[in-house]
Amino acid sequence: MKQIIKEPKSKFIKVKCTACENEQTIFGSASTHVNCLICGQTLAEPTSGKADIKAEIIEVLE
Ligand SMILES: [Zn+2]
Repeated sequence: MKQIIKEPKSKFIKVKCTACENEQTIFGSASTHVNCLICGQTLAEPTSGKADIKAEIIEVLE
């Protein structure tokens, strides 16, 4: 689960759920709905091109 595959254009974003403060690393250009693993809150929604991040962004990982 913790393995991160490095791809040239990947950008992972560390976010904090606004509802339960769970910290989770998500893919910055997610093309699927990403929900908080703890409470189910929407963290990111796919839009045209890149993900719309609904959570608080803590850190962008290269
Ligand atoms: Zn949550």
